[in-house]
Amino acid sequence: MKAQPIASHFIDGEYVEDADGTVIESLYPATGEVIARLHAATPAIVEKAIAAAKRAQPAWAAMSPTARGRILKRAADIMRERNRELSELETLDTGKPIQETIVADPTSGADSFEFFGGIAAAGLNGSHIPLGQDFAYTKRVPLGVCVGIGAWNYPQQIACWKGAPALICGNAMVFKPSENTPLGALKIAEILIEAGLPKGLYNVIQGDRTTGPLLVNHPDVAKVSLTGSVPTGRKVAAAAAGSLKHVTMELGGKSPLIVFDDADIDSAVGGAMLGNFYSTGQVCSNGTRVFVARGIKETFLSRLKARTENMVIGDPMDEATQLGPMVSFDQRQKVLSYIDKGKAEGATLVTGGGIPNHVTGEGYYVQPTVFADVTDEMTIAREEIFGPVMCVLDFDNEAEVIARANGTEFGLSGGVFTSDLTRGHRVVDQLEAGTLWINTYNLCPVEIPFGGSKQSGFGRENSVAALEHYSELKTVYVGMGKVEAPY
Ligand code: NAD
Repeated sequence: MKAQPIASHFIDGEYVEDADGTVIESLYPATGEVIARLHAATPAIVEKAIAAAKRAQPAWAAMSPTARGRILKRAADIMRERNRELSELETLDTGKPIQETIVADPTSGADSFEFFGGIAAAGLNGSHIPLGQDFAYTKRVPLGVCVGIGAWNYPQQIACWKGAPALICGNAMVFKPSENTPLGALKIAEILIEAGLPKGLYNVIQGDRTTGPLLVNHPDVAKVSLTGSVPTGRKVAAAAAGSLKHVTMELGGKSPLIVFDDADIDSAVGGAMLGNFYSTGQVCSNGTRVFVARGIKETFLSRLKARTENMVIGDPMDEATQLGPMVSFDQRQKVLSYIDKGKAEGATLVTGGGIPNHVTGEGYYVQPTVFADVTDEMTIAREEIFGPVMCVLDFDNEAEVIARANGTEFGLSGGVFTSDLTRGHRVVDQLEAGTLWINTYNLCPVEIPFGGSKQSGFGRENSVAALEHYSELKTVYVGMGKVEAPY
């Protein structure tokens, strides 16, 4: 299987190579096979990309929002037309089952172009402020050159979630995908050109943790939006602070999912499974601490075990497959070491706990794993695992579970399953997180703001809220009379 792109980078409307850059091997996680060889950006490539963005941005900003929006909507249409091809590429890039990528990856990116393309005409208006004889008005103006840095779990979605609001506000973007998943973003750049985006406005360069700082520290960059882990977020925010750049930080989590004893248990089990096993558990907002009311614990666990053991693990290109491999060998080793810690620290292994033996070959597979009797102090309850490992914890009452749910440095998401409407709202109101769900989990349509609090980050993606993070207000005070100076 090969997925070799024309070249490593996409700058100023065309593919560009610089073979002096360190080699990045793209491996298909289901087999370990090398499917593409690319090069990390050299400093010359970084300069070229930022210069192209800087050159193209003013003319783009001068276009009407409606005209900009028309191009993004066209890009959305092309993505939908090419959904199968883009989904297969996403599966090759990440190892996620085609069953998922076909409904959740390019389509989510297309939603983003469609949404921001559609709200452009009305969403970027300023305001008029009457001041008696005088008045003032505000304009929403772009920031300039924005940098997007992506994680490997949703490569195409992240490239679009950052690109769409940046572009609609009149900015240019330089996007660096994760070194683990370099392929998808290049296709997004190609499609934007096909849709009519002027060249230079959406550039993709490859690289790793040594390339990112070249972008973040660049004086011509006005904003950095990172999707990544908390330690990377701290480094990027600190570097950006050196030149007071705008930042959006979409970081990690260890989110609580609380199941009360009056919940619809099958729905709660389904929500917990989706919130732990979708994308082989590689979802930042996953509800990895599942607090289950003691009275329903046995029923919950037995249904969860049966459904988990029924999951179809295997070839991600087979439409029947529900769970694919982890993205990389290293990520699998990390997940397996957390599973070992769970066992060593005394959690009860309900199911899974290792490498599935019916999947042969070199793929980075891990069994969907459930631990019960997990306590708040255990490593697996405190640290983000980023794999298909669910921790089930018991609780006795509402006040106790809220305090324990909030007892983490993270604050990305959370969820509550209950049939008591009042309790549902009362509990989510007290949970410290950016996105919360009642009686469902992990649904993130483009219409709703998404982002974290506490150490999970700041800024919001999607929805009209994202416009504020890719633009700033310019205020104009208009004096209508004579200036009365006292001297
Ligand atoms: P990571 O932090 O290792 O890397 C993220 C990106 O940052 C990569 O492109 C990497 O090359 C780059 N990078 C690393 N060091 C850098 C530096 N010093 N300066 C600039 N760039 C640098 O994260 P990952 O392993 O790719 O992704 C998994 C993490 O991402 C998890 O913690 C997960 O929760 C988080 N995540 C968050 C969201 C969200 O929206 N909140 C979404 C997806 C993933």
